[in-house]
Amino acid sequence: FRSAQSSSRAANEIDQTKSPYYKEAIRKLKEVFQLDDFRQNQLKAINATLDAKDAFVLMPTGGGKSLCYQLPAVCTGGKTKGLTVVVSPLIALMNDQVHHLQAKGIDVVSFNSDQGAEGARVSRARLTGSGKRPDILYVTPERLDKSTDLRSILGRLYKQRELARFVIDEAHCVSTWGRDFRDSYQSLKSLRLEYPGIPIMALTATANEQVMNDVIDQLGICGCEMIMQSFNRPNLFYDVRPKLKNVINDIASFIQLHKGQTGVIYCLSRNKCEEVAKELRDKYKLKAKHYHAQMSPEDKHKTQAAWQSGECEIIVATIAFGMGIDKAVRYVIHHSLPMSMDGYYQETGRAGRDGKDAKCILYYTYADTKILYKLIKDSEKTSEEEKERQLEGVRAVVKYCQNDVDCRRVQVLRYFGQGFDPRECHKACNNCLDEREQKTEDMTTAAKSLLNLVQALGRKERMTKVQCLDVFRGANVKTIRDKGYDSNPYFGAGAKLSREHAERLIDQLLVLDALREECFTNRSGWNNSYVQVGGFRSSLTLSPHSLS
Ligand code: ADP
Ligand code: MG
Ligand code: ZN
Repeated sequence: FRSAQSSSRAANEIDQTKSPYYKEAIRKLKEVFQLDDFRQNQLKAINATLDAKDAFVLMPTGGGKSLCYQLPAVCTGGKTKGLTVVVSPLIALMNDQVHHLQAKGIDVVSFNSDQGAEGARVSRARLTGSGKRPDILYVTPERLDKSTDLRSILGRLYKQRELARFVIDEAHCVSTWGRDFRDSYQSLKSLRLEYPGIPIMALTATANEQVMNDVIDQLGICGCEMIMQSFNRPNLFYDVRPKLKNVINDIASFIQLHKGQTGVIYCLSRNKCEEVAKELRDKYKLKAKHYHAQMSPEDKHKTQAAWQSGECEIIVATIAFGMGIDKAVRYVIHHSLPMSMDGYYQETGRAGRDGKDAKCILYYTYADTKILYKLIKDSEKTSEEEKERQLEGVRAVVKYCQNDVDCRRVQVLRYFGQGFDPRECHKACNNCLDEREQKTEDMTTAAKSLLNLVQALGRKERMTKVQCLDVFRGANVKTIRDKGYDSNPYFGAGAKLSREHAERLIDQLLVLDALREECFTNRSGWNNSYVQVGGFRSSLTLSPHSLS
């Protein structure tokens, strides 16, 4: 993959602007999508599908995959004409895209479980009636799988040569090797057989080779155009710092060192955004403004304008900010943990879009995971399955933060399935820059004692993480004695470890889901979390260096 990065400039690469589809594509890009240029590989993907070829598109999150199929859908000069059918797994994202496209005047309909009978009836009428057909149909894999009515509508369009292409977004869901495998994606295997000759485009941000091969195999698109790029962003410096009480002070000093440059600070909640922006303004005289989803459209517009004009240099935002704003961002700061590695990659990815050096700082404290876990647990709309997926996402971020040895690039790219030689980082991450000597220690015995300690708790006993640490280290603390925890057979089993070491061990076990923290609200409304034995779903191989 490393060589793939520069391939767009390689001499043997075809000049994509010479294709017969280019003229219409660039015109539609400007007129319909109001964008100036294609990003890396977008035109290549568009040309391939307009030429009726199957395509596999690997692009990082936020790289601009949607345009690869939305733009050809509104082109009329392709080899296949008619409806572009987009299979997309997340209803919220689907609705979002449908609204965006409609705002651009694009004729789009959808089928999903959210829309109700009337919505489905309208979509159906547009696909079967005698009037003008829509350009795009968004559909969930479940609907495509289960609805024989939809299948027969598509069959009819196929016979009338009114099907332009099938698009499989988040295509890694097809593969059982992938981390988001979905049953209903299995039925997509039949597309090639049921609609021969209709080009298929599969898109994903998962670069694991096994997954890619499996997807191509399952969809029956061997020999497709492979459109891939490295996920490495060589001009970004990745830094993870401990989040301490004076975090704002730390952030402010960093910003003062980067006077006149623009940056984004991500916070988890709207209140935090407002609070941080205010403190940076009032206490440090910095040009900061907050931005979040609950602001009025008017306020949002004002803030965006101030940011665009330079009157505001720092935006303190929830993840709602950043869409479609291409400004030369010199730094991205995570005031609290991102929700997932995808999110981290996308949010840091907003820095240095111009190719010049930019910094990404993440402030990490394990305590922030509790806020995230609670957010996930309390969200009413999310299914249990989705919640579990989100929790898994947070654990991956914690693991990344806690690993203060391996090159940050190696870790980020490994998450997406790409290998990376750490020497190529050129000390552009805090771990590669760290010159402290590293020590490897086997923590298996200590880990086992810690698990046994928690397991030995009686049915009515509950221990917080701090109590657990105290018992493990055999601390002489009154509350521990009062509760009788000093009679635990593993009391003091970790007496040789420093508090810091013991805490990292617990955190690692929490990340591995060998231990879990369960949140309870007591009678006075106070939230407490207690350590319990976890699911043991992950194997118990501890990463020795992250404990050293
Ligand atoms: P992905 O699906 O790969 O994660 P999206 O298709 O959602 O990414 O695009 C991410 C963002 O990039 C969107 O805000 C989109 O408007 C923007 N974008 C995509 N292509 C371009 C382009 N050629 N120029 C400017 N912005 C673009
Ligand atoms: Mg996408
Ligand atoms: Zn590095």
